[in-house]
Amino acid sequence: MEEDLTLTVDGREIPASDGQTILEAALAAGIDIPHLCYDPRVASTGQCRLCLVRIEGRPGLETACTERVRPGMEVVTEDKEIREVRKTILELLLSEHRLSCQTCDMDGECLLQTYAYRYGADERAFGIRDFDRDRPNYTARGEAIRYDPSLCVRCERCVRVCQEVQGLDILTLKGRGFAAEVSTAFDLPLRETPCDVCGNCVGTCPTGALYERPSVGMGQLKDLDRVVTTCPYCGVGCQLTLYVNRNLNRVVRVGSDAGCVPNDGALCVKGRFGLDFVHSPDRLTAPLIRRNGQFEEASWDEALDLVAERLTAIRDSHGPDALAGLSSAKCTNEENYLFQKLVRAALGTNNVDHCARLCHASTVAGLARAFGSGAMTNSIDDVPLADAVFVIGSNTTECHPVLGAMIRQAARTGRTRLIVADPRKIELARHAEVHLQQASGSDVALVNAMMKVIVEEGLWDRAFVEERCEDFEPFLDEVLATDLAEAAEVTGVPTDRIRQAARVYARAERASIVYSMGITQHTTGTDNVLSLANLAMLTGNVGRKSTGVNPLRGQNNVQGACDLGALPDVYSGYQKVNDPGARAKFEEAWGVPLPAEPGLTVVEIINAAADGDVRGLYIMGENPMLSDPDIGHVREALGKLDFLCVQDIFLSETAELADVVLPATCFAEKDGTFTNTERRIQRVRKAVEPPGQARPDWEILCDLSRRMGYDMACGGVAEVMDEIASVTPIYGGVRYDRLEGVGLQWPCTDADHAGTRFLHAGSFTRGRGRFHAVPYKPPAETPDEEYPVVLTTGRRQQHWHTGTMTRRAHVLDWLVPHGEAEISPVLADEYGIEDGEMIRVISRRGSVEVKAHVLDRPRTDSVFMAFHFKEAPANVLTNPALDPIAKIPEFKVCAVRLERIGKDSLQEA
Ligand code: SF4
Repeated sequence: MEEDLTLTVDGREIPASDGQTILEAALAAGIDIPHLCYDPRVASTGQCRLCLVRIEGRPGLETACTERVRPGMEVVTEDKEIREVRKTILELLLSEHRLSCQTCDMDGECLLQTYAYRYGADERAFGIRDFDRDRPNYTARGEAIRYDPSLCVRCERCVRVCQEVQGLDILTLKGRGFAAEVSTAFDLPLRETPCDVCGNCVGTCPTGALYERPSVGMGQLKDLDRVVTTCPYCGVGCQLTLYVNRNLNRVVRVGSDAGCVPNDGALCVKGRFGLDFVHSPDRLTAPLIRRNGQFEEASWDEALDLVAERLTAIRDSHGPDALAGLSSAKCTNEENYLFQKLVRAALGTNNVDHCARLCHASTVAGLARAFGSGAMTNSIDDVPLADAVFVIGSNTTECHPVLGAMIRQAARTGRTRLIVADPRKIELARHAEVHLQQASGSDVALVNAMMKVIVEEGLWDRAFVEERCEDFEPFLDEVLATDLAEAAEVTGVPTDRIRQAARVYARAERASIVYSMGITQHTTGTDNVLSLANLAMLTGNVGRKSTGVNPLRGQNNVQGACDLGALPDVYSGYQKVNDPGARAKFEEAWGVPLPAEPGLTVVEIINAAADGDVRGLYIMGENPMLSDPDIGHVREALGKLDFLCVQDIFLSETAELADVVLPATCFAEKDGTFTNTERRIQRVRKAVEPPGQARPDWEILCDLSRRMGYDMACGGVAEVMDEIASVTPIYGGVRYDRLEGVGLQWPCTDADHAGTRFLHAGSFTRGRGRFHAVPYKPPAETPDEEYPVVLTTGRRQQHWHTGTMTRRAHVLDWLVPHGEAEISPVLADEYGIEDGEMIRVISRRGSVEVKAHVLDRPRTDSVFMAFHFKEAPANVLTNPALDPIAKIPEFKVCAVRLERIGKDSLQEA
C-alpha cells in the first residue's frame, strides 16, 4: 500500500494511506492502541470499543479501528478519560470472564490479561459471576477444538474469520449478554457441519476461549518457545509458528501470524492439527539391517558401510546404470541437491527422479515448451484478485486448502467470477458461476472448444498474439476444426455452458488459470498443459499480475526437488544433462566426469527393476508401494532388486521391503529451505531434537558419499545453498541471510535481484510464447463391457499422499479414519449398492475392498477413491500407461467394475 498522507498521533507525525483506519496506521507506525475485536484480515466492527481515541475537533471518542485516516488529522490515543473508559470496559469484561490465568493455556498471550494488567482493571468492580464450566456447547465430543464460553469476550473475531478468511459461515454468536455464546449456525456439533476444522477461529481468538484441544495442558504460552517454519504438507507453503515445550522436547501447538506470506495467518486442518506425527512412537530411531529376513538394529557405521559396499559392488559389476535413486519432495532443497549430486557424481548415473513424475512432470514439460519455464507463472496472492479464475482439474479447497479458501471467498464476495471444470461436483463448484462437469480425460476437447468460441466471437487478444507469440497458424487451424457439438458429446458438457465459460474467461481484464493433477495425471498430460498455455496466450493472460497459468504443486517441496535437479534429464536450475556446456560446468564444479544421457523416470526405474536392469535402488522419503500405479507390479519389481535402501522417518510400506533402513529427521528437526508452488524459497527451521539416532537427510547423504569415495563435504545447509547458488542461475542470488521474512521467489539471479513475482513480463522465458496444435486423444483405458465404470483418484483434505504422516495425526485420523469409494446415487442404484456397504472395485490390475459412500458428487459413470489408505490402496487399480513426453502415469482414468461383497458387510463396516 502506498503511503500518501500524514496524520499526527500523540504529537507524532506518521505516514498513512488513503483508506487505512487510524488503528492500522498507528500499528504500522509502532503505536499500540489496545484492541480485542480487531483482526487485520476482516472488516472492523468497533465492537469491543477498547480502541477508542480522541480526534481533534470531534465531540466524543471514536473507535480507531473503524475511523479512516484523513490528511492532517490529529489523534490522541490515551489521556485520563480514555484510560478510565478502557478500565471500565475491561472490568465489565472481567465480570463475565472466569479468571483462571493460573491454569489457562493462553497465559502470556491473552490480550484480556495484557490490557487488564496495563489499565489496572479490578476484576471485582462489577461482581464475580458463577460459571457453569461444564455447560455443553457446539464443540462437545470434538477432538480438535475446545470452546469455553466462560473465557469468551464475545468479540466475534472467530465468526468473522470463518466468514471472511475461510469463506464459510459455520459460526455465529447466539444469545444475549451473559448468555451469548459462539455456536454453529447449524445447531449441530462441529463435526456434523461443513466446517473445514481449519482452526482459524482458534488462531484469531484473543483469549483462551477457543483453543486446540490436543494442546490443552501441554504448556502455557508464556513458557513455550516459538519457531517459525514452513508447513511440511502441500505446495502452498504456509508459514507456521511451532510452539515448543522444551521440557518435553515437543511441538505442542501450531499457529500462524496474520501478515505472513503466503498464508496471512490462515492454516488448514493438516497444518494446524496434523503435526503430531513428529512425536509418533512409530518413528524410526535406529538404522535397521535385514538379517535372515528380519530387521535388526545396527550402528550408523555398520549400516552406512553396508549401503556403500552394496551400491559400489553393483556399480562395479553391472555398471552405474544398474543403480537408481528416488529423491524426495518432502525433503529440503539442500537435501535434494545433495541427493542428485550423490547419484550422479558418486553412483555415476542419471537414474534419479522423484514423485514430481507422478504429479506435475507434464507441467514441467508442457509449460517449458510453451513458455520456456515449467513453473507457476504468478503468485498465490494474485489469484483471488483476478477478475476471473478458471479452476480446472484442481480440487483446490481439499488439496491446497488455504489457497482454495481464498478463491472461495473471492467468488462469494463477487470480486472474482469463478469457472470450475471438474468431473466431480467439488466444493468450489458450488461457488462457481459456471461448472463444467467434463468426462475424465476430455480436457483438451473442452479447452479447444472454449478457444473456438473465443476466436469465433472475436474475444482473443490479437495484439498479444502477434507481438509476443509464434506458431499461431497451425494452432488456429486445429481450433477452428473443432466441432462444438462433437466436443459436447466427448466432454458431456452442453455447448451453451462451454460458450458461457469461454466468455467469462475471455472477457475478464485479468484471468487466471489454476490447475493441478486433474490436468497432469493423464497420458495426455502434456497436451492438457499445452492447451491451457494456448488458452492463456490466446487471450493475452500471461505476464501480468493476476493472470497466468498456475499449476498448484502437490508436495511441500516438489517445486524445489525439481528446481534442484532431482530429475533424470536436468541438473539444478533445469540445465540439461545432455547439454555439453552444462555438463562441463557441473563436472568442473563437482570434480568428476558425469554421465551424458538422461536417466530413467520413476515408472521406468520400477520397470527396469522388474526386468533386472536396475539392481540397486536408494530411496529417500518416497513410498512407491502406495504412490505408484499398479502396486502389484511395484512389489514384484522391488522384490527382484539385489539391494534396496530406504531412508525415511517411518517404516513405510516400501521400507518394509528394504535391506537397509536409515532413520531420518522430519521437517521440525532440521534446518533448510523448501520452495513452494509460487517459486518462493522459504526457510525451514529446527524446532525439536530428533528421536533416537535419527539424522538429517543431508548429513546421511554426505556421510554415505564419503564412504563411497566421493567426498561431498558440507559444513551445513547454508553452505550447500551457497553451492547451489554458484551453479544454478535461477537461484543465483539466494543466500540464507536473504531468506528471513518472506523468502525469495525465483528467478533470483544475483545478490541484488529482489526475486520475481510473476514470470514472462514483457517477453517469455523462451523469447516468444509458442502455440501448439493439440488434437484431442482419448484416455489409454476407457470403459467397456467388462469394466464399465471410470475410476478416478485424488486426495482428501484431511490426509496426505500415502498417509504415513497424516494417519498418525490424531485429529486427522479422527476426522477421516478410512478410505471410501464415492459413488453417485445413479450408479449405486444400478448396482444395488447402499451407502456404507463394503464393495469390491476391480480393474485389469487388481481389486480393492472399500466402503461405498453414495453421494451426488462424482459423475454418474464414475467412482472416486483417494490414494492415502493402505487398507484400500487405490493404486492397486490404476493404469501405469504413460504420457509419452512427461512419462507421467494416467492415475486419473482407468476402467473398473464394481461388485457388492454382501449385505452383511454393511454391519461390519
Ligand atoms: Fe500446510 Fe498446505 Fe494446509 Fe497451508 S494449505 S497449512 S501448506 S497443508
